[in-house]
Amino acid sequence: MTTRKLTDPSYADALDHATDLGATHERFLLPPGRIYLDGNSLGALPAGVPERVARAIRHEWGDGLIGSWLDAGWAGLADGVAAKLAPLLGVDPADIQLGDSTSVTLFKTLYAACRRRPDRRTILVDPTTFPTDGYVARGVADALGLELRWSEPGDPAAALDEHVAVLLVNHVDFRTGALLDLRETARAAHAAGALLLADICHSAGSVPMTLLDDDVDLAVGCTYKYLNGGPGAPAFGWVTPRLHAGLTHPIPGWWGHAEPFAMSLEYQPAAGAARMASGTPPVIALTALDAALDAFAGVEPAALRARSLSLTDYFIALVDDQCGTSVEVVTPRDGHRRGSQVSLRHPAAYGVVQALIARGVVGDFRAPDIARFGFAALYLSHRDVLAAVEELAAVLRTDEFAHPRFAVLQAIT
Ligand SMILES: *Cc1c(COP(=O)(O)O)cnc(C)c1O
Repeated sequence: MTTRKLTDPSYADALDHATDLGATHERFLLPPGRIYLDGNSLGALPAGVPERVARAIRHEWGDGLIGSWLDAGWAGLADGVAAKLAPLLGVDPADIQLGDSTSVTLFKTLYAACRRRPDRRTILVDPTTFPTDGYVARGVADALGLELRWSEPGDPAAALDEHVAVLLVNHVDFRTGALLDLRETARAAHAAGALLLADICHSAGSVPMTLLDDDVDLAVGCTYKYLNGGPGAPAFGWVTPRLHAGLTHPIPGWWGHAEPFAMSLEYQPAAGAARMASGTPPVIALTALDAALDAFAGVEPAALRARSLSLTDYFIALVDDQCGTSVEVVTPRDGHRRGSQVSLRHPAAYGVVQALIARGVVGDFRAPDIARFGFAALYLSHRDVLAAVEELAAVLRTDEFAHPRFAVLQAIT
């Protein structure tokens, strides 16, 4: 490889070969002529989903009607999804609960966590958090009469003290792509007597995790980003078994009851994390997610991570080589400190992203000045990365990003 240039397609192919996952891109239906670098926002469509969802609607719902709760396995669908998720998170499937949105799951989980530290008054949040986490934390604080405290940006552990009930962190910073060390953060939280709740939306399905071994207490994550479950797919919550006994949350519905069909007036929580459920699970959405997770079948989490790091390393090297100083790489260059995205700072980042989309390279913009590119290792190749940076360099070189038609801010960026 010594004489080959970074921009030589055979160099890209060699990197592909070295991190081969076995043609997993064939497990996705991607539109031709587009390079999709937004799988960190909405994952691509796995090939098995359309037929499986059509069958669930036409036959399971249409023909099977209510009998499908048992005959088609709807009642156990969430458990099947949890079993596919668990190895990616390093947890026991029995400790996962699925069905609500991320924000709702976060509210229930954070509330439950705070109730486990009744003598403490503070929820600690990093201000670099994905905004919904801050809004939800404020809602929980108000509901329980607690204080919401913001840490210094990027350094939540330093603000821990004897008042903190729960430290809420994002595993990956959604703007910069920086990866937090959960094991170290859990140790710091526990040393201060607090619980650690990790939002793993941007790492689930891209960064292998060992939540149980790392001694994280609770986690929430969405399934429509790197897990490819589809728009608005059901989120999951995880609670370490140590905290199960006596766990209470604010929406104790019948689906989290020990015996939902006893129709008892008394709420009797189910054992374990199952009590975190509230109402009837979204069967069609869970069906899509169940089929989507088959795209991970036989893929070693460590191999997925190795390919993801190779893709992001290659992207950064190409940007350095092709784009000069016109953009700043804000994502950590040390792979151990990076999720599966690369973010570039540019004063006209919105225009850059729009001009790239017009050229068939889909990334996204995060205010105020970040162009963000996510790398889903299951369906992207190093040739895709090479082609994407060629388009990016052209957009920057020609000032195409400054064209007025790329300046109209859309409602969703
Ligand atoms: C995407 C994301 C969410 C999304 O919450 P929803 O309720 O699913 O809209 C929450 N937190 C983080 C860190 C995210 O990246």
